[in-house]
Amino acid sequence: MILALDQGTTSSRAIIFDAQGQPIASAQEEFAQIYPQSGWVEHNPQAIWESQLATAKAAIAKVAATKAAFSAADIKAIGITNQRETTVVWEAATGEPIYNAIVWQDRRTASICEKMKADGFEDYVRQTTGLVIDAYFSATKLAWILDSVPNARARAEAGELRFGTVDTWLIWKLTGGQVFATDASNASRTMLFDISRGAWDEKLLAYFAIPPAILPDVLASNSFYGSTLPELFGAAIPIAGVAGDQQAALFGQRCLQVGSAKNTYGTGCFMLMNIGQKPTFSKNGLLTTIAWQLGDETTYALEGSVFVAGAAIQWLRDEAKMLDNAAQSEELAMSVADNGGVYLVPAFTGLGAPYWDMYARGAIFGLSRGSSKAHIVRAALESLAYQTRDVLGLMQAEAATPLQVLRVDGGASANNFLMQFQADMLQTPVQRPTITETTALGAACLAGLTIGLWSLAELQNQWQEERLFLPQMIAEKSEKHYSRWQKAVQRARNWAEDL
Ligand code: ADP
Repeated sequence: MILALDQGTTSSRAIIFDAQGQPIASAQEEFAQIYPQSGWVEHNPQAIWESQLATAKAAIAKVAATKAAFSAADIKAIGITNQRETTVVWEAATGEPIYNAIVWQDRRTASICEKMKADGFEDYVRQTTGLVIDAYFSATKLAWILDSVPNARARAEAGELRFGTVDTWLIWKLTGGQVFATDASNASRTMLFDISRGAWDEKLLAYFAIPPAILPDVLASNSFYGSTLPELFGAAIPIAGVAGDQQAALFGQRCLQVGSAKNTYGTGCFMLMNIGQKPTFSKNGLLTTIAWQLGDETTYALEGSVFVAGAAIQWLRDEAKMLDNAAQSEELAMSVADNGGVYLVPAFTGLGAPYWDMYARGAIFGLSRGSSKAHIVRAALESLAYQTRDVLGLMQAEAATPLQVLRVDGGASANNFLMQFQADMLQTPVQRPTITETTALGAACLAGLTIGLWSLAELQNQWQEERLFLPQMIAEKSEKHYSRWQKAVQRARNWAEDL
């Protein structure tokens, strides 16, 4: 068996997979979100650790309760996947954090990013790290902690402090402080890592005055990181696979070939496409990231996101009160023959790629006397598919290989209407797997690969389709819909410019 630890933004989860890659037990625990000021988001690193440890123990206990001959030694490896970019700094000697974890959503370092842009670093950051300069990534969060906690920078220079993303923090805790390491996919989200050379970047470290001693070793995603303290689970279990959450999902979806892609339909959408062993640096706002490193070989991905996806359905439910629950949207959408000419642009917080318009706002177009709630709900679901096509369009323009099939996961991928409409809009098949816990699964796959439980070919074969959605709409009609969407987006743009 393999134990996957899935450390997310709002909860920690643990799932145990059997040797066929099937989930057999799981546990989940939420932990507190800390909002000290508007735009700031923190987690208590101890709460992250304790909730993660508790769920791992609970999942193990569940297996023990059902299998007589089971012991913790039957778990042959641990895989870790985690919320990305979130930044923890702790004392090497005691393991005590010197500040709360600054979460990826936290905007407190926006002004540091502005300064960095003014200092002319935009092209350098893109060409080196594959990222755009943004407060999301760890670099400015780490710099902020070093500047704001008394004595921190001097202590960092003296080698007394350790920095890590959440994977590194968990590995440190699980090994009792013996292992200080991260994997290449997590390192690629720090804005300090040269993704082409696979090394921390001296120029960026110098810019932020970050002493190299504070940084973890960067290992392949399929490495032996170390073994857990025996007293934690009753056996020393090797930690054998690590990847950031979206990259783990790409691996769990077995998007192992160049040109294969997955889209996760959650609050927002996260799309990643495997672009192979050479990084392509996007000219239109997509990120280039390390998907995983297996042995010496690094695989890269293009990443694009949609800010408001499932959140538009939440809005219909909670604010517009048009739905009792999200799942109802499917039946309502299918109760009408088409969208009746209604288009909903969910630009509640502006628009990301390819529009990059922070002044755009949400709008509904094309209302007529006959427009009903069902048309509006349908238009909201369709907007997820149009936005996905917007981002995939950019990926297609920059990636050499055309998309053969889109693999999907996340809460809203359960919606059959949406998945069919997605296939119609992309004119490409959409494939939904039997196991939609792809993040945890990806971490388990990496760990199983490392210990030789599975080969890459076996992993590829394990993936099981639950349902395939083939394009049914003729291309001409699909294009018509999409161009109406683009027209609606144009009309929603720049709305709040003068507000
Ligand atoms: P996250 O991990 O971002 O919290 P999830 O993957 O749990 O998101 O998915 C939850 C989101 O999916 C919510 O925004 C919800 O509105 C949406 N959602 C869930 N089920 C459906 C459904 N059947 N149809 C459409 N949207 C759905």
